[in-house]
Amino acid sequence: MERFLLDAAQLRKYLPALSESQKNAIRNGKKIKVAEEQREGWTGKLPFYIFWCPTCDNFSYDYPHGFIETQYLTCHKCSKRIDFRPWWVELAQLWELIKWMCRRDKKNAGGAK
Ligand SMILES: [Zn+2]
Repeated sequence: MERFLLDAAQLRKYLPALSESQKNAIRNGKKIKVAEEQREGWTGKLPFYIFWCPTCDNFSYDYPHGFIETQYLTCHKCSKRIDFRPWWVELAQLWELIKWMCRRDKKNAGGAK
């Protein structure tokens, strides 16, 4: 089966199991993991999420693509990429930024005399 058709079928399967509050959270940008699948040619299972596509204004179903720092989900209807980085990646990047700013401030303070 073509991938996008399969995604659409899976969305129809998992979406009714979500509560209204979960659906509202998804509409507000939350991604909810609903399944793990191993598809043809894959070496293992991958997590699949239901998320909101602001472009076609609908629920969509996909697994994360790309490297961890630049991960995204693709809408199976309009192919729009939606940013998807796990929260801890953003936290790690924020921490690096804080460390960098502290180093820079120390350097500036030393050179200001
Ligand atoms: Zn879309």
